[in-house]
Amino acid sequence: MSQQKPYRVLLYYNYVHIDDPEQFAAEHLQFCKELGLKGRILVAEEGLNGTVSGTVEQTSAYMEAMHQDPRFADMVFKIDEAETHAFNKMFVRPRDEIVSFRLEDDVDPHEITGKYLSPNEFFEQMQQEDVVVIDARNDYEYDIGHFRGAIRPDVAAFRDFPQWVRENLSDYKDKKILTYCTGGIRCEKFSGFLLKEGFQDVGQLHGGIVSYGQDPEVKGQLFDGKCYVFDNRISVPVNQVEDVVVGKCYHCGKPEDRYVNCANPSCNLQHICCESCEEEHKRSCSKECEEHPLNRYVKEHPLHSEA
Ligand SMILES: [Zn+2]
Ligand SMILES: [Zn+2]
Repeated sequence: MSQQKPYRVLLYYNYVHIDDPEQFAAEHLQFCKELGLKGRILVAEEGLNGTVSGTVEQTSAYMEAMHQDPRFADMVFKIDEAETHAFNKMFVRPRDEIVSFRLEDDVDPHEITGKYLSPNEFFEQMQQEDVVVIDARNDYEYDIGHFRGAIRPDVAAFRDFPQWVRENLSDYKDKKILTYCTGGIRCEKFSGFLLKEGFQDVGQLHGGIVSYGQDPEVKGQLFDGKCYVFDNRISVPVNQVEDVVVGKCYHCGKPEDRYVNCANPSCNLQHICCESCEEEHKRSCSKECEEHPLNRYVKEHPLHSEA
């Protein structure tokens, strides 16, 4: 048994009414800072969506305090161990929605949402015939890892889903649909949206890819590649049985699943890049970025500088 790592990354959400998101956010930020946490939390009248990192003690104190609040008494925390903080700062922000769907007619998961499937149920059902698995994340998340056979959403933001569904998936309305996302929060709305659109049979992976990867029975099986996360780690492993690489290096096309940010500070484009191309192209997405006077890779590697 390996030793427990000193830090943890928590991922959690709850669709529950919050009276005054502005005030809640201000107080919650203070509370998180006092605990020493770092991360990003969104607060809206419809609930709370958070991911934070901290030491084992800090994160335990946070979870305990949250569970004492009746609004969050049943909130599920997905816990990953880590060597260090996964964020640089602590933000708590009031928003209109905790995931940005921006529908004319918003989806309230308490009123309508797909059937919750455990990792085991999802694993069984995705292997049945005639089942359509839809990835409810963005295209760049899909590109470094996804369930085998899942449909790649041609969207760069969650709010683009409704249009994409209407244009591409109307033929599947009488099929069995399974949806999944990172931690489950997007599927709560997305699966509800599909039901409202007339899809008959919609299931969602409860707890998302993160819970699926930690399930002791399914062990992340049939998930190929890595799971994209919105923190400094960029991606985390899921499948404990098979290691399949699904991404391709932006430069040379070799199988690869590590994302880097372009070293030109005014570009920052996130792209998949292998180690040798990182060196060759100075972690840049283009010739222009490579030659940019503020290129960060050049600064980090003084020997590369042509001065
Ligand atoms: Zn390469
Ligand atoms: Zn660039």
